[in-house]
Amino acid sequence: MGAGFELQEKELTPQEIKNLQRKIRRLVEEKNAVILAHYYQRPEVQDIADFIGDSLELSRKAATTDADIIVFCGVRFMCETAKILSPHKKVLHPNPESGCPMADMVRADQVRDLRRKYPDAEFVAYINTTADVKAEVDICVTSANAPKIIKKLKSKKIVFLPDQALGEWISRQVPDKEFILWKGFCPPHFEFTAREVSKLKEKYPDAKVAVHPECHPKVIELADFVGSTSQIIKYATSVESRKVIVITEVGLKYTLQKINPYKEYIFPESMNYCGTVYCCTMKGITLPKVYETVKNETNEVLLPPDIMERARKPIEKMLAMS
Ligand code: SF4
Repeated sequence: MGAGFELQEKELTPQEIKNLQRKIRRLVEEKNAVILAHYYQRPEVQDIADFIGDSLELSRKAATTDADIIVFCGVRFMCETAKILSPHKKVLHPNPESGCPMADMVRADQVRDLRRKYPDAEFVAYINTTADVKAEVDICVTSANAPKIIKKLKSKKIVFLPDQALGEWISRQVPDKEFILWKGFCPPHFEFTAREVSKLKEKYPDAKVAVHPECHPKVIELADFVGSTSQIIKYATSVESRKVIVITEVGLKYTLQKINPYKEYIFPESMNYCGTVYCCTMKGITLPKVYETVKNETNEVLLPPDIMERARKPIEKMLAMS
């Protein structure tokens, strides 16, 4: 995804935002739809959601909703997961171009090659993978449940993909297993440097540091707390310290401020692969796109039935074990 990625059709006025939000909510009610949004979504998109969560929470919601239509404000692999878990529902993705660069770093044929190389290993995929890749693995995990689930797996040898940084962090917590790590990474999280975090620590010596495990191991070393987005929310909003340095996607600031506005949340300001401080594909979901999608019921997520069937097994195994 290049720097030319279209982030916002045009700047909306506060009144235009309100009007669009009202129209979207009316359509959602009329059509018995539900809007699921990831924490990294734009604030104005989060505000129209029925449910906001991280990958694990959103997968659970997608599996249990009784709505007829799921409008998924997140990146492509999340919409695919929702479709796999609710195959008879209409899942709509307001911007089909919004993929996850990390999920696209591994393909199904590469997993099949690895299977031949490591026949005795259990294959674990981060939920941030395409449906094709999920169809090839034994179990999925999220950053919230990965160590807990992998500890329970029978095999001593684990192939983990695609996020090398997350894999390294998990391997330290599960030292009795051998890990073979795919060399993928999350471009926004990997952009944060230990130097930048050290500087923030110097500037705010009384602040606690919460880090997402997709960050570089040298950044993780500087953390007081390492956890998934939802775990960071719990920690940052309840830890005694009034100031918290938060090393993850800046979209989370909106949620943190809503939950506990009495704290100061300090986010790094490094530019990433698309010249922004945020994940630009997450921000590719805009209110006008959501409106058009809900109104016309376009951008339906469709997957081959055999892929859905095979990809469902590792996801359901994860949900059962987490
Ligand atoms: S923050 Fe990273 S893992 Fe999440 S969607 Fe963006 S690139 Fe993918």
